[in-house]
Amino acid sequence: DYQKHIRNFSIVAHIDHGKSTIADRILELTDTVAQRQLKSQMLDDMPLERQRGITIKLNSVEVKYHAKDGEDYIFHLIDTPGHVDFSYEVSRSLAACEGALLVVDASQGVQAQTLANTYLAIDDDLEILPVINKIDLPSADPENAKMEIEEMLGLDASDAVEVSGKTGLGIPELLERIVTDVPAPQGDLEAPLKALIFDSKYDDYRGVVLAVRIEDGMVKPGDEIEIMNTHKKYEVTEVGVSNPHPVKKDMLVAGDVGYLTANIKSVRETRVGDTITSAQNPTEEALPGYRQIPPMVFSGMYPVDNSKYDDLKEALEKLQLNDAALEFEPETSTALGFGFRCGFLGLLHMDVVQERLEQEFDLDLIMTAPSTDYHAIMNDGTTKVIDNPSDLPDVGEYKEVQEPYVKAEIMVPNDFVGPVMELCQRKRGEFQTMDYLDKYRVNVIYHIPLAEIIFDFFDDLKSSTKGYASLDYEIIGYRATDLVKIDVLLNKEPIDALSFISHRSDAQARARQMTSLLKKLIPRQNFEVDIQGAIGAKIISRATIKPYRKDVTARIHTGDPDRRAKLLDKQKRGKKRMKAVGKVEVPQDAFMAVLKMN
Ligand code: GDP
Ligand code: MG
Repeated sequence: DYQKHIRNFSIVAHIDHGKSTIADRILELTDTVAQRQLKSQMLDDMPLERQRGITIKLNSVEVKYHAKDGEDYIFHLIDTPGHVDFSYEVSRSLAACEGALLVVDASQGVQAQTLANTYLAIDDDLEILPVINKIDLPSADPENAKMEIEEMLGLDASDAVEVSGKTGLGIPELLERIVTDVPAPQGDLEAPLKALIFDSKYDDYRGVVLAVRIEDGMVKPGDEIEIMNTHKKYEVTEVGVSNPHPVKKDMLVAGDVGYLTANIKSVRETRVGDTITSAQNPTEEALPGYRQIPPMVFSGMYPVDNSKYDDLKEALEKLQLNDAALEFEPETSTALGFGFRCGFLGLLHMDVVQERLEQEFDLDLIMTAPSTDYHAIMNDGTTKVIDNPSDLPDVGEYKEVQEPYVKAEIMVPNDFVGPVMELCQRKRGEFQTMDYLDKYRVNVIYHIPLAEIIFDFFDDLKSSTKGYASLDYEIIGYRATDLVKIDVLLNKEPIDALSFISHRSDAQARARQMTSLLKKLIPRQNFEVDIQGAIGAKIISRATIKPYRKDVTARIHTGDPDRRAKLLDKQKRGKKRMKAVGKVEVPQDAFMAVLKMN
C-alpha cells in the first residue's frame, strides 16, 4: 500500500527548454522549499553548473503532494545531466524511475537532446508524459510541438500538459497528471535487498553519500551491505531522503529513492549503476545495465608555476574523491616540466575538471591537446599503450599502431540520412547498417575511429541535421590504421607537448596547418622563432616568426592612460598562461592548436 503513493520520475529536456524552471515550480507549489529559501534552480547546486547552465551532477528531491483524490503522495524528482559525455549517468538515473516528464519548449519543438534522452527513457521502459513548456511566449506553437513529439518520437502527445514554468500556469494540472500517469513502483518488500546506485558524492564529514533507488527489500542503519560488482562490504551508518537537504530516516524500503552512507572512502569503490544487496541475505542477480566507463580522452596538465606541482596533485586527489571517472598519473615533459597525464570521459568532462581546478583551487594550468590512447605493437610483439602522442616510438620500431574504434549509433529523421552518411564517411567511418525504426526515424550504424568522434563530431552532426540527430557510441576495440606521429620543433628543439598523431593521408596538410596556427598563436619574441613540423627526421612543414622591435605599449603615445593600463593588465594576465619552452614563450592556446585544425 505504501508504494501506491510513491511516484519516481525524471525530467528530460533539451538544454534551455525549462527543466530546472519546472522543477523549481514543482518544489514551490508543494511547499517543499520555503519561499525565502527558494533560490532559482534549486537542483543545479554546483557553481559551475549555474555558470554554464548545465546540470553536471545528479540530484534528487522528495516532494509531498496532497492530490485532488484526497490522498497524500510522495514524489521523487530525479535530476539528470544533459550532455552526451554523461549519457551513462543519465541512463542510470532514469533506471531509478517509473516515469519521465518530457519537456519540450513550445517555441522550439523537439531538438537533439530531447531525442537522445527520450530514447534512453524509452529503452528503460519508462512511462513518458509529454509537457509543452513556455506557452506564455508569443512565439509558442504548442500544436506544432505536439506534432513533432508524435512524428519524431512516435509518442502520443494528444494529452500533453501545457505549462509555463515562468508564470506557473498549468503546473497544478501537471502535478495531478504525475499522480495519474506515472506508475507506482512495484518492488517486493519481503525479498532480499536490491538497490540501484544512481549517483555518488563525496562529503568531508560523512564520506561517500550514495543516491539509491530501493528496488526490493529494505535497508536501515546497522545493516551490513555488499556492493555486487566490487564485492566490497560496508556497515550502513545513515539512510534518508533529500528534500533537497538531507533528512534522516529510520529505513528505506522498496520503491523509495533516497541516500545512504556507510563510511565509504571514495566514490571509486561504489560506481554508479552498481547494485547494493544485503551481505547476510544477498539477492541472486545484480541489476542490469552496469558498465564501468573508462576514460577516453587524455591530456597533460601542468602548473604554469612549477612550484605548484604539489598543489595540483592535492587538488586532483580531492576532485577524484568525487569523480570516479577522472584518472591521473605523474608525467614529465621536457617542455613543460612536472605535471600529470589525466584521463577524462570526453571533452566536456575535461573542461569541467580544468575549470574546477582553476576556480576552486586557484591554479593556473597549461593543458596539452587532448587525444585518445593508442596501442603500438612493437617489433618484438609486445603492446605499448600510448596515452601521450609524444611517447609513440619512431617509425621502424613498431609493427603497427592501433587506435580505438567506436560503434556509433545515430538516430535521425529520414530526411537527414544523406548528410549523416556523408559526415561519417568524411570521418573515416565504415558503414554497418541502417534500420527504419518507424515511418520517420532511421538508426544508422557506423564504425568510426574514436579520435574522429571526440573532437567536433557532435557539433558537425548537429549542424548537418539541424540538431535532430542523436548520437550514442561505445568502444568496440582497437584497430590498426596508418597513423604517424608529427613532432613540432621550435628553433630546432622538438617540443614534446606539441606532438600529435594523425592519419598518414592527412599528415602533410595537418602539419602545415599546425605550423601556420602556431605562427599566429606564439607572440613575437626578441629573436626569430623557427617552427617546423616533422615526421621522424623529415621536415614536412615550416614557418618563421620574425622578432619584434619595440615594447607593445611604446606605440601608444601619451593620450589615453586608461587604455595603456588596460593593455598592460591584459599583457600581465596573458603572461600567466605563458610557459617558457626553452627560450620561447608559448601561450596556452598554442598547446590546444590541434583542436583548431580540421
Ligand atoms: P533547462 O536548461 O532545461 O534547465 O532550462 P531552464 O529551466 O534553465 O530555462 C532556460 C531559460 O528559459 C531560462 O532563462 C528560463 O527563465 C526560461 N524559461 C523557462 N521556462 C519558461 C517559460 O515557461 N516561459 C518563458 N518565457 N521562459 C521560460
Ligand atoms: Mg537546468
